[in-house]
Amino acid sequence: MMTRVPRSYVKEARKRTGPKRARIGPIVERLAAEHADATIALRFRDPLELLVSVMLSAQTTDVNVNRVTATLFEKYRRPEDYLAVPQEELERDIFATGFYRQKARSLRGTMRMLLEEFDGEVPRTLEELTRLPGVARKTANVVASELGHTQGIVVDTHVRRLSQRLGLTRREDPVKIEHDLVRLVPRADWARFPHLLIWHGRRVCDARRPRCEDCVLAPDLCPSARA
Ligand code: SF4
Repeated sequence: MMTRVPRSYVKEARKRTGPKRARIGPIVERLAAEHADATIALRFRDPLELLVSVMLSAQTTDVNVNRVTATLFEKYRRPEDYLAVPQEELERDIFATGFYRQKARSLRGTMRMLLEEFDGEVPRTLEELTRLPGVARKTANVVASELGHTQGIVVDTHVRRLSQRLGLTRREDPVKIEHDLVRLVPRADWARFPHLLIWHGRRVCDARRPRCEDCVLAPDLCPSARA
């Protein structure tokens, strides 16, 4: 006798929420209404401080970076300042952000290149930004976007988790996730989309305990919504 295979939960959920192309607009709208204050949490006053803050934010929290840069930026104002002290002094000044040796090396290499190739200015294109030592695609995307030259979609741990839960991508690799997202999210929303997912991830869609009962995307826009 043939046993009936129950339709999978995933299929049921996809049927309930509909195709991602139809959901992306309402997802952005609802998140924008819910997190009207969603912007970058790092504090900076100019492009150089932005670049340094984003470089320091690897593997630590924005709150921690802000605590360190509050004093750091009083001492280091121009690219030359990062090269005027011994490497060990810079390491001590950024110690609390973790991975301080590697970060100090990257900062000094970046400052050297800014001076030698970019007249001491922070470049705006992803191609140029990713040439700077220690500046990977995510950092470059954040910097370009905050400077008003958005060229992609920032994919951090929150963006990755939420994009997967929302059924916008099945990929694991951040570059491939970004590839899926830029084909789906309207270009005008590329800059704010990651901020919305980051804040929603922090406030509601926690990695271990998503609060679906309080989520504006449940149940009609999220295939992972728990009943
Ligand atoms: S419904 Fe649940 S899983 Fe989906 S985005 Fe909201 S909190 Fe996350």
